[in-house]
Amino acid sequence: MQILNNKVAFITGASRGIGKAIAFTLAKSGADIVGVDVAIDGLKSSMDEVESSTGRKAIGIQGDVGDYASMERSGEEAIRLFGHINILVNNAGITRDNLILRMKDDEWENVLRVNLTGTFNCTKAIIKGMVKNREGRIINIASIVGVMGNIGQANYAASKAGIIGFTKSVAREYANRGITANVIAPGFIETDMTLALSDEVRKTLTSQIPMSRLGKPEDIAHVVKFLASDEASYITGQVIHVNGGMYM
Ligand code: NAP
Repeated sequence: MQILNNKVAFITGASRGIGKAIAFTLAKSGADIVGVDVAIDGLKSSMDEVESSTGRKAIGIQGDVGDYASMERSGEEAIRLFGHINILVNNAGITRDNLILRMKDDEWENVLRVNLTGTFNCTKAIIKGMVKNREGRIINIASIVGVMGNIGQANYAASKAGIIGFTKSVAREYANRGITANVIAPGFIETDMTLALSDEVRKTLTSQIPMSRLGKPEDIAHVVKFLASDEASYITGQVIHVNGGMYM
């Protein structure tokens, strides 16, 4: 008996990076997976990998978290296939970095739309079923940047700080329906998102991390697994920092 047996996890941005690692880790712990992403090809091959290496069901649904109707459709499709959703991981996120004086309206708006409105859209679409079942785990992926701020990332920092306030409100609103909502705030993690950093920036960043390395996607996925498990049933409204000591 694995700790997430009979659970279904709905994970956004599941085709690569942290989302893909979360899909693998939850499936290895017994959960069936619904992965959602904009680009269906990458998503399908990631879900196939999850299925063949874990033996759990893993299906990919094309969807844009920034579009509520798309998330409602994805949620309905997941319920049609699996009957219920126990775990929602709002992981999809983008960066469009620029200094404030140079930041274009669309750089600001797109980051807020995907990261913050996307988290609201998915939560609103999926929580309905959780309320009905009086059971659910919502795990939102924010960032160390939402707590510390960062030069060139005012849009991203605002979206991630917004996720923290949003999650605490969800936690308070739905605690008496058996639903928990928590945030994981990763530090800097080895994915395509950080691959874009220059060697110089990476060196400076690493010097600010007591553990002297960037994190791995699995470092985040293991915390998601814990928050989704029965052992975490009394934890809600919290921000769990996973950053090698960079922020404490
Ligand atoms: P990543 O490698 O860039 O992957 C992001 C995923 O989100 C991709 O699969 C992407 O799809 C998907 N996505 C983007 N826009 C979407 C939309 N509108 N609807 C649905 N899916 C969408 O990023 P990552 O590093 O794994 O980051 C995952 C999460 O962790 C993000 O929320 C990020 O902000 C957060 N985070 C990352 C770090 C880090 O250092 N890497 C640190 C702190 C927090 P496509 O493949 O189609 O583009």
